[in-house]
Amino acid sequence: MRVLRVALEVPVAKLFDYLCDASVLAEVGDRVVVPFGSRERVGVVVDAVDGSSVASARLKDVTRVLEGAPRLPADWLEQMRFLAAYYQRPFGETVAGALPPRLRSLKALPKRKPPIEGDPGEPARFVAGPAPNEAQRQAIERIRAAFGSFRTFLLHGITGSGKTEVYLRLIAEVVARRQQALVLVPEIGLTPQLEARFRHAFPQARIAMLHSALEDTARTHAWLDAARGEAQIVLGTRLAVLTPMAKLGLVAVDEEHDPSFKQQEGLRYSARDAAIQRAKLAGCPVVLGSATPSLETWQNARAGRYELLPLPERAVPGAKLPTVRLVDLRNESAEHGLAPSVVEAVRARLAGGEQSLVFINRRGYAPVLACDACGWAAGCSRCSARLVLHSADRRLRCHHCGAEEPVPRACPTCGNVDLRPHGRGTQRIEEALAGIFPEARILRIDRDSARKRGELARTLAGVSRGEGDILVGTQLLAKGHDFPNLTLVCVLNADSALLSTDYRSAERLFATLQQVGGRSGRREQPGEVLVQTRFPGHPMYQALMRHDFAGFAASQLAEREAAGFPPFVFEAALRAEAKRLADTMAFLKAAARLVPVPESVKVYDPVPHVITRRAGYERAQLVVQSHSRPALQAFLAEWNAALPAAAPRGIRWHLDVDPIEFD
Ligand code: ADP
Ligand code: ZN
Ligand code: ZN
Repeated sequence: MRVLRVALEVPVAKLFDYLCDASVLAEVGDRVVVPFGSRERVGVVVDAVDGSSVASARLKDVTRVLEGAPRLPADWLEQMRFLAAYYQRPFGETVAGALPPRLRSLKALPKRKPPIEGDPGEPARFVAGPAPNEAQRQAIERIRAAFGSFRTFLLHGITGSGKTEVYLRLIAEVVARRQQALVLVPEIGLTPQLEARFRHAFPQARIAMLHSALEDTARTHAWLDAARGEAQIVLGTRLAVLTPMAKLGLVAVDEEHDPSFKQQEGLRYSARDAAIQRAKLAGCPVVLGSATPSLETWQNARAGRYELLPLPERAVPGAKLPTVRLVDLRNESAEHGLAPSVVEAVRARLAGGEQSLVFINRRGYAPVLACDACGWAAGCSRCSARLVLHSADRRLRCHHCGAEEPVPRACPTCGNVDLRPHGRGTQRIEEALAGIFPEARILRIDRDSARKRGELARTLAGVSRGEGDILVGTQLLAKGHDFPNLTLVCVLNADSALLSTDYRSAERLFATLQQVGGRSGRREQPGEVLVQTRFPGHPMYQALMRHDFAGFAASQLAEREAAGFPPFVFEAALRAEAKRLADTMAFLKAAARLVPVPESVKVYDPVPHVITRRAGYERAQLVVQSHSRPALQAFLAEWNAALPAAAPRGIRWHLDVDPIEFD
């Protein structure tokens, strides 16, 4: 009896057995339609076996095989199996979640696009950029030598050191070998410049773009192009790593340290780690690129597991690193959030016709609206958080749950009508700058100013062409854009990150500041970075001034090792939420004793989140650690199997393996 094991999109950790009529001819990797309950569902055949634990009389037949897409290959199924096991998610859900919506629906697939006409040898046509410098040449040489085998490289170079040029030259060779290249980037919606650069370098190649903002048909086409081996280059965000690629020859992960590579719901996978696993399965090299590698990656390079390829200088001849200066707020008092030397530096750029960027990682007008008479402050009724004042439409918004309300006319506790904003966000800084420089064109760039799709890309393209004298922006501005006329970056409230309880906050701040600083002085004009701070002696700032990532990383790693944090231990978090904190804590306490904990695994006490209540739920988590990844994995598998039965109604919970967010 031939039985097919089918993965279905249902939240149970099991596969479903079906019989297969001789007329249906379903094989492992096929997408099939099967009867399930009272309706039909689409699933993927993941195994074919000789018998079933279900009585044969109760087994149903596969209805039909879905046509139009290539059969899912064995290495892809292997990757899904690995991800499901590693991140403790049901296999069926993992398989289904990795497919674009159209491929898991009963709807017919869109018609195949006609192949690009012309000589099939042509896709390899490569419009080469500048001749590589010595460091680039060595990097290319080392990676090329690994073609056809699995090896992990860390391409460590500051912004503008020519990492993208290295990827392009390697991809040219991969395409010439008639193989495919996979390039992962943090947020593709923000990097149309990168797509344009790839299209310019490979005018005749088929480039499949894959990210979550694509509409259904475009995403389906891109996925099919990649899976059929017809797209020579697949460029996308984290989900692109889940695409089958018939002829994978090279994987590149740009800005590998970026937190957006970790999915924060469902299958909480790290696309960076999945990319490495993927390259291993495909037997090809993988290149991780970053100016500020994650400490996990840096430690792997130090330990010799990854090969370090440094690009120590900016690639454009004559281009220099920006000068980083600290503005000591203990000596200079900042008016409207801006220290006098910051104002003067902006004034000098205005006079010289150059652009300045004022960076503040907080959108809105002010993070607090308070009554100075009685101490009341506007808070969210659903979260343990303050409401942020937005000036454009005079609303208070919760940045944690999205709730919003009008600004009250008077204090609800004492009736005082003089409510005051405290602290600053982008809107308030924009207002202050407009007051100081009435003649300047000021552009604010944050998630509020760029709500509509495509708007951000348009604004950024304008900035690249020199539009705007002063830019006020958040993290959105930090990534990947080339602003040739920008020569000054002013960082306003960096200190707040240093006061955070998250052990990763210094690492993140260093990366952000290095990245923001990298926006300046990419061409002939040298750039300058001014950082306002009350802690100018802090080692993080000192390292930033020296552009000393290695020194910074060494000190952070020493601290992590002493404190027993990753990458020196492996971690998972069990998070839970309920309407009452007591219920959340009771569940976590019971969960901690649910299965025997081996000696090599440590289960910590549950603790509430810093922002305990969010959207009406009280949240807490407990951390599990081990020095041994296999030991942790074995424990998690057993635990995860027991948890569903142990969770009372009203509790929502999930496991996060290798978590990076703890707030
Ligand atoms: P990264 O990806 O590290 O930020 P890029 O590859 O984008 O760096 O290079 C930054 C700039 O330097 C680009 O304008 C690129 O064309 C230029 N560039 C790269 N390599 C060289 C080189 N060897 N000689 C001259 N210019 C180069
Ligand atoms: Zn009051
Ligand atoms: Zn809220």
